[in-house]
Amino acid sequence: MLNIDLHSHSTVSDGVLSPSRLLAHAASRDVAALALTDHDDTAGLAEAHYQAQQENITLINGVEISVTWHNRTLHIVGLGINPEHPPLVNGLKKIREGRLERAQAIAAQLDKSGIHGSFEGASAQAGNSRLIGRTHFARFLVSQGYAKDVKSVFKKYLVKGKPGHVSHIWTSLNEAVDWIRGSGGQAVIAHPARYKIGNNLLEQLLHEFCELGGTGIEVVTSSHTPEQTRQFAQLASRMHLYASCGSDYHGPGESYFDLGRLPALPPECVPIWTKWEIPNIHKNQ
Ligand code: AMP
Ligand code: MN
Ligand code: MN
Ligand code: MN
Repeated sequence: MLNIDLHSHSTVSDGVLSPSRLLAHAASRDVAALALTDHDDTAGLAEAHYQAQQENITLINGVEISVTWHNRTLHIVGLGINPEHPPLVNGLKKIREGRLERAQAIAAQLDKSGIHGSFEGASAQAGNSRLIGRTHFARFLVSQGYAKDVKSVFKKYLVKGKPGHVSHIWTSLNEAVDWIRGSGGQAVIAHPARYKIGNNLLEQLLHEFCELGGTGIEVVTSSHTPEQTRQFAQLASRMHLYASCGSDYHGPGESYFDLGRLPALPPECVPIWTKWEIPNIHKNQ
């Protein structure tokens, strides 16, 4: 079976490993094809390509775009994008600017509940000064002893109803899919079970997404239980969407699946890479 992983993060967003170290780690796990999909930034791709060549891995240009749809945050992964496509470049830049404002608002909220200096603290955790996210706040709060790990700090401080939560409007689904498609890539709904939306809204999302030209959905991801994997495999085939698989790797111990250790897609799925040319596709077959 092809060892392919189409969702991963580096220090350019909220991953722990630099793009080079991520590729080296992928090689150590016999990954034949990897997509680097940093949140709202493609700045890691150049370094990742260099290292991919050293490691004889096929690197797929990717990104994970933050979207607001019906008052909810969704993540749309772009695969096979051109990172120089101007609407994508400008759109991502705007999202990152919004992130900066949100980070200041999060810090102000935490300040009110007696946690000081979190903007500077979170910034110091970020590998890329252009992109700051909740994970950086989480790592700062853990380092200060406010919680034992990143998972529990989210629950205690960073989700709806908690002191460090700030609601935020990201880009629209329409724009995210347009930027991805316009750059020659394929749009994929990331970790669909994470959104906890009812069946009707989920149907609506999938119909809208397909109408906009989205082509894929993650079926295998660290956030899915085996039952959810089966459920989304069926949904993907019913909606004629390609199925994707990605660990959503953020670093050692930070995601359920390690790079390249994903279960196979269920048999009814049509893999999103079906029509791709992957030079080392036979590496692990
Ligand atoms: P942001 O885009 O800045 O709102 O941050 C979202 C990121 O935070 C996700 O990509 C995950 O890496 C991380 N995250 C979100 N929820 C949780 C959680 N409950 N536990 C651990 N990490 C989380
Ligand atoms: Mn993340
Ligand atoms: Mn995500
Ligand atoms: Mn992700």
